[in-house]
Amino acid sequence: MEVKGKRAHVLAVPGPAQGHVRPLMKLMTEIANRGIKASFVNTEYIHAKVVAAMSEEDKRQSHIELMSIPDGLPPEDDRSDWLKLLESLARTMSRNLTDLIEKINCENKHEKISHIIVDTTIGWILDIPKKMGAEPVAFQPSAAASMALKLHIPKLIEEGNLDINGFMMEKELIKVSHDVPPWRRNELLWSIPSDLKGQKILFECILAAGKSVHQATWILCNTLYELESSACNLFPNFLSIGPLLRSNNSKSCASGGSFWVEDTACLSWLDEKPDDSVIYVSFGSIALLSQDQLNELALALELSGRPFLWVVRSNIVNGSQAEYPDGFRERVAERAKIVEWAPQEKVLAHSSVWCFLSHCGWNSTMEGLSLGVPFLCWPYFADQFHNENYICDMWRIGLRLNRDENGLRSRHEIVSKIDMLFCDPSVKANALKLKEMAQRSVTESGSSFRNFETFISHLKK
Ligand code: UDP
Repeated sequence: MEVKGKRAHVLAVPGPAQGHVRPLMKLMTEIANRGIKASFVNTEYIHAKVVAAMSEEDKRQSHIELMSIPDGLPPEDDRSDWLKLLESLARTMSRNLTDLIEKINCENKHEKISHIIVDTTIGWILDIPKKMGAEPVAFQPSAAASMALKLHIPKLIEEGNLDINGFMMEKELIKVSHDVPPWRRNELLWSIPSDLKGQKILFECILAAGKSVHQATWILCNTLYELESSACNLFPNFLSIGPLLRSNNSKSCASGGSFWVEDTACLSWLDEKPDDSVIYVSFGSIALLSQDQLNELALALELSGRPFLWVVRSNIVNGSQAEYPDGFRERVAERAKIVEWAPQEKVLAHSSVWCFLSHCGWNSTMEGLSLGVPFLCWPYFADQFHNENYICDMWRIGLRLNRDENGLRSRHEIVSKIDMLFCDPSVKANALKLKEMAQRSVTESGSSFRNFETFISHLKK
C-alpha cells in the first residue's frame, strides 16, 4: 500500500444524520489535533447545515477540511424521508465518493488519502478504500451491542431466528452474548412495525452494511470496554474509544458538527437554578411526537412542580411546530426554559441539571452516562429500545416511561416516574459510579485512551 513513509491523510464519511456526524466529527478533531491531516465528507445538504451552524471562530479553529458530495436526490426533495435518502445513497454514493477521492488525490500528490473511516451505517462503501489505495476503517457511532446484532444477522437467519426480511420468527427474544440484554420483537434496529415495506428496505441496507464491515482493518466504536466488554470481545479488531465527548478535548470547535445553532442562553438560565434541580428534556434530532403526546408531556412537566429545560425542535410535532396546552407557557414561565437546540453536553455537565428525560439515542446515552445524569427513558425507534434496556436493567441509571393502552406516555406516568426517581438515591449513586468509570476510560492508561493511542500509532506508521 502507498501509505508507508508518507504523512497519513484520513478521510471520514458519516451517515447523513446528526447522531452520526457529531461523534465522527469529535473523533476526527482528536485525530487532527495529533497532527494528522483530516478531511470530512458530508452530503451537500448536511454540509450546508454544518457550515451554517459554525461560528466564524469555529471555522478559524477547525483543522478539519470539510467537503461534500451529492446525496443523489433533487434539491426540492424532503431529506427527512430517510428511507428514500438511504436508497438514493445506496445507488449513488460509491460513484460520487470515488470521484471525490480521485480529485483529492490528484490535487494532493504528496498527501493522498491513506485511510478512510466509514460509518457502519453506510458500510457498503467500505470496498472503496482498497480500490483507491487506502486502508478501510469502520466507525460504529452506536453501541457495540448494535454492531454485534448487525454482524449476527446471517447467523440469525441461518438458525431460523429471523426470516430473510428481518422479521422475528418463533422466538420472542434474540440474544447475541451473555451480558448483552436481548432484543424483543419490534425492538430490533430495523423494526418499523407501522411500515413493513420500509422495514424491509432498512433491513437490506443494514445487512449489506454489516457484510462489508468485515473488510475493515479496525472497527472503532463510541463505547467503553468496561460497559460492553462481552460485545466488544466478539470482534478481534474492535477498538472501543468512547465516550467521544467534546469536553475530552479542549481544542474542539464549539459547534463540532452540529446541524443547528445552539441556544447558549439556557446555560445562564441554568446558572440561576439550585444544584440538582432541573429536568432536561430532549428527543435528539429525529424523534417526533404527536400533538396529544406533547400535551401530556407539557402537562406532566407542569404538574411536576420542578424547573425544566426542554428542547423543542421546530418540527417536533410530526414535522410541524409544537402547540402548547392553553395557558401552559404563562403558568410555567417562572421555572421553564424552552429552546430549539441546546448545547447538550454543557447542559448535562451543569450542576443544576438533575435528570435527563431522553429518547435514548446512543450519543445522548453516552453523554448522560459520562456526566452522571440519571435518565427517564422515552425511546422512539432503532437502537433506542435496546439502549433503554441497558440504562434501566443493566446499568440501573434510569427508569422507563411506559405507554398506556392508547400508546401514550400519560402525564400521570411521567409525574410518577419523576417522583420515583427523586425518591430513589440508588439510581443517582449508580450514575455517579458510571460517570467515574467513563471518565477513567478516556484518561491516561484508561481502556479507551489506550485504544485510541493504538489507532494513532497505526496511522503514524
Ligand atoms: N444534541 C444537541 N442539542 C440538542 C439535542 C441534541 O447538541 O438540543 C446532540 C446530542 O448532544 C447528541 C446528538 O445531538 O450528540 C443526538 O444524537 P443521539 O444519538 O442522541 O440522537 P439522534 O439525534 O441520532 O436521534
